[in-house]
Amino acid sequence: MQSLSALKASLTLPSPLIPFNPSWHGADKVSMWVKRDDAIHPIMSGNKWRKLSNALEAPLINNIVSFGGGFSNHLHALGYACFKLNVPFTAIIRGDYSMSPSPMIKDLLAWKANIEYVDRITYKQRNERTYLQALQKRFGNAMIIPEGGSQHEAHQGIKQMVGEISIPFDVLATPVASGATLAGIASALSRSQRALGVGVLKGQGYLESLVSQFIDEDKENWSITHDFHMGGYAKAPNALTQFCRTFNDTMCFEIEPVYSGKVFWAIKQLLEKGHFEKGTRLVILHTGGLQGAR
Ligand SMILES: *Cc1c(COP(=O)(O)O)cnc(C)c1O
Repeated sequence: MQSLSALKASLTLPSPLIPFNPSWHGADKVSMWVKRDDAIHPIMSGNKWRKLSNALEAPLINNIVSFGGGFSNHLHALGYACFKLNVPFTAIIRGDYSMSPSPMIKDLLAWKANIEYVDRITYKQRNERTYLQALQKRFGNAMIIPEGGSQHEAHQGIKQMVGEISIPFDVLATPVASGATLAGIASALSRSQRALGVGVLKGQGYLESLVSQFIDEDKENWSITHDFHMGGYAKAPNALTQFCRTFNDTMCFEIEPVYSGKVFWAIKQLLEKGHFEKGTRLVILHTGGLQGAR
């Protein structure tokens, strides 16, 4: 068993910020860096650690309960942290994988997590008060963390990530699924900076409403592009898988098609279209998630 400080000491923090100079059309007009949150830890996915770090500061004596799909980066990160911290963890998973557990679920089992498979209808109740109260009672006053680790406390960890960026920049780009990462970034940026979200699922309007719900102030320094979800969540047409493969063969770090692949793909297309003003200083957040590609 580890203490939280020992667990933190095993992480690469601050995460590296590396210059990014691909030979893409239009890339010479801007300056780019990648904030390598994928390098924080080989198991704990980058933005999931950021979102959880604050919740784990609370005294952890009871069960932790959380939700996700069968390949969830969030359950993976949280399951690993709970195992290291010796906190009982229950993962409520959408769908029944008992006959064919995913690599993520196999890891959770090895980390002694309690797994409950639920059908879609039950899973839909994951944010409903009465359902959560019943769960909390059943698991002995458990701490319940929402799907994706996306709760208000998640802001603080995302702000720390922004604070680590020691160079001046204009735009910070990130993938968007639950919106908590983008919301945290937007609230941390100064007035002259912009957060650019890349929607990884079909959700024009919906994703914006998720982000707004996490932001207290009326911030207008963020936007989401919906042109690069490539058919929906975890949908990866050939062009995208090929792009990721070439990227991974030629760059010094890796991407996967669900999150980071779509962000780098989007940046490449936007550069080609001349979307960014000449001289723009762009930081791309690599949120990690490479385990999901297994
Ligand atoms: C969960 C996840 C995201 C999405 O972050 P949100 O805060 O839910 O928008 C992005 N990248 C990776 C690798 C993730 O695991």
